[in-house]
Amino acid sequence: EWIDLTEIARSAVRKMEWRVKEKGLNLQANYGSDIPLIRGDGLRMEQIFINMLDNAVRYTESGDVTVSLHSDANQVTMTIEDTGIGIPEDELPFLFDRFYRVEKSRSRQYGGTGLGLSIAKKLIDLQGGEIHVSSTTGVGTRFDICFPLSGSQEEDYEEG
Ligand code: ATP
Ligand code: MG
Repeated sequence: EWIDLTEIARSAVRKMEWRVKEKGLNLQANYGSDIPLIRGDGLRMEQIFINMLDNAVRYTESGDVTVSLHSDANQVTMTIEDTGIGIPEDELPFLFDRFYRVEKSRSRQYGGTGLGLSIAKKLIDLQGGEIHVSSTTGVGTRFDICFPLSGSQEEDYEEG
């Protein structure tokens, strides 16, 4: 299936808009021009974006949630950035583990089950993509998710 990540990102953002408004956050979207179509599963892709946006909104008390898409010769990259509570550096290696949640006290405050990122990671792997995180406590968090434009992805990919 050929999919349009710009369209999928727009749809995911639309679904989050009411929560963003409710929290008084500022949602910025920068969709690069001429993002090429890639091979993938549209529903899985939207689930990834929704899980990432859900976190960005949930763990941000004020400021911005920024979504951007850009492409180069080899890949399309989706970036989700927030000005939220951040993640301590020593917890980053465990972030994509099932049921992993940062700090017990924080978990009580924010709810959640600790599955969102492990599911997103699995769906990204299935589509030949990669996810990278960088974060500073009290400043914010940035996730970059990239998908290759061509290559082994097509052999690895199984229809849905
Ligand atoms: P679920 O997504 O299943 O409802 P969850 O949000 O706790 O629950 P994950 O999405 O897997 O689980 O995230 C794991 C942990 O990583 C969270 O508990 C949270 O502490 C931390 N985290 C994830 N995204 C962010 C973010 N954007 N800013 C700060 N902390 C984050
Ligand atoms: Mg989550």
